[in-house]
Amino acid sequence: MGGYNAWVRKHLVTWMEKNGLPSEAIAAFSARWSKLEHLDKFLCPHCFVHDGAERPVGSLMAQDNIEPLVCPHCRTQYDIPMG
Ligand SMILES: [Zn+2]
Repeated sequence: MGGYNAWVRKHLVTWMEKNGLPSEAIAAFSARWSKLEHLDKFLCPHCFVHDGAERPVGSLMAQDNIEPLVCPHCRTQYDIPMG
């Protein structure tokens, strides 16, 4: 589970970089992530940065080796490639 967790975080951080979020925000997200107790609950980067809220994303059915994670609050979708 730890490997998958690190994999998801890596791709969420890439999403944040591509969307031009400040490096301080990305660092704060990563720091918070490393303290998560439940590794199967992934935080929405958009809500974390823009609302200061910790909202878990849900996962949709995987398709074409992509596992989409979607935030039920802001509807942002994060496509996580399946290893
Ligand atoms: Zn969100």
